[in-house]
Amino acid sequence: MRLTLVTTLLLLSVACATNPVTGKKEFSLMSEAEELAIGQQADAEIRREMGVYPDQEVQRYVSDIGMRLAAESHRPNLPWTFTVVDSPAINAFAVPGGYVYITRGILPYLGDEAELAGVLGHEIGHVTARHASQQYSRQAGGGLGLAILSIFVPQTAPFADLSSLGLSVLFLKYGRDDELESDRLGVEYAAGAGFDPSGVPRFLDTLARVSTLSERGVPNWLSTHPEPASRVGVAEPIAAKFASDTANARNTDDFHRAIDGVVVGDSIEQGIVRGNAFIHPAMRIALEFPEGWEVINTAEQVMAREPGTEHYMLLSQVEQPRGRQIEEVARDAMRRAGYSMLDGAIEQVSGLSAFVGLYRGSVQSVGRVTMRAAHVAIGRQVYVIAGFAPEKDFEGVSAQLEPAIRSFREISAQEASRVRPNRLSFYTVRAGDSWQSIAQRVGGGITSASTLAIMNGFEVSDQPQAGARIKIVVAG
Ligand SMILES: [Zn+2]
Repeated sequence: MRLTLVTTLLLLSVACATNPVTGKKEFSLMSEAEELAIGQQADAEIRREMGVYPDQEVQRYVSDIGMRLAAESHRPNLPWTFTVVDSPAINAFAVPGGYVYITRGILPYLGDEAELAGVLGHEIGHVTARHASQQYSRQAGGGLGLAILSIFVPQTAPFADLSSLGLSVLFLKYGRDDELESDRLGVEYAAGAGFDPSGVPRFLDTLARVSTLSERGVPNWLSTHPEPASRVGVAEPIAAKFASDTANARNTDDFHRAIDGVVVGDSIEQGIVRGNAFIHPAMRIALEFPEGWEVINTAEQVMAREPGTEHYMLLSQVEQPRGRQIEEVARDAMRRAGYSMLDGAIEQVSGLSAFVGLYRGSVQSVGRVTMRAAHVAIGRQVYVIAGFAPEKDFEGVSAQLEPAIRSFREISAQEASRVRPNRLSFYTVRAGDSWQSIAQRVGGGITSASTLAIMNGFEVSDQPQAGARIKIVVAG
């Protein structure tokens, strides 16, 4: 699929197109039909790789608002779609042709419907002003290509394959001019659809408080949408200009009703991270990563890293071909990945049949590494649990890797059914409450006081007011 797309891009004729927003002619490699073709393929890939959040009501709610904004945009006739993807990251993105996405992870950070409209309007702006199309054009013409990906995710093939074109949209970085233009268009479209246009600067203000990287591997909005703090000051006067009696809806209660109960953090379908433990109730497997390591869970694999080092662990899976022994599967997979085996033996890992080997190879952006990898069979499925580090570090880190690899186990149906995701809920502040006390007493320590404050549009130093209805995160 990737090959087909790249070929398509290279075969596109160089043409001038009229920018629907500015009305000016500009160099573009893409016609509207080509935008649609790219969008359709990227959309299929995004849905497959990230997953669609399985809540029809939330989908319909976001889509209804998106369609109202799109109707006010410069390209009302594109086949617009608005999708909430099943990712805990705080993100929103768009691909050419009218495909707009927000993550379920962004919902708890939005204050009201006007902020949601601001985010959707901003992304609509990237599509109508053809920012992404220009990016794709630049990639095709200038060979920027998909190499952008490997900056964020160390290339660990065959364990990781995030380098697909659909997901590369997550790594597109727009320039400051594109961002300011989209902020302005977001204000314009939101106001046109009757929303309070201050939703744009208010959400930028929240974003400025959120740290620069997501907790779970998928880069968040900040990594692709630079400088939210400096954009607040630009967006505010524009929003003030567009505000009117017919553009003032915030619909906070409707918004709260719509997002009540939304999953926060990891989901059952993609596995749950609790501290350094990873539990996948749907696959019925669990693993304890080394104490203090940062765990990054994506739909494709789970990765852990010792902070500040190049020491990694990966959990991934391969299919076991019929009639093949686990040793053969392991040797083949590692050889194909370019690893040479130093030693290896059939072992039991938590009572499961496994092949545990020591390998040498190289990982892009890390260099030459030594890797301990266990291939563990459960039915037809083979799980790969690997730990690796630069050759010179491996000896020192192996005392942490070995027990972590051997902690991999199958969990019972009962244990799986006890795992519940965290969910968004609401709480009315009482006199004497602080973010700290609410996070601990009401939220059970699931979220920190500062996360809670940011989620509600405050600094942790501003205390919540008694009587206010605030968002909290509770154990499902
Ligand atoms: Zn943007």
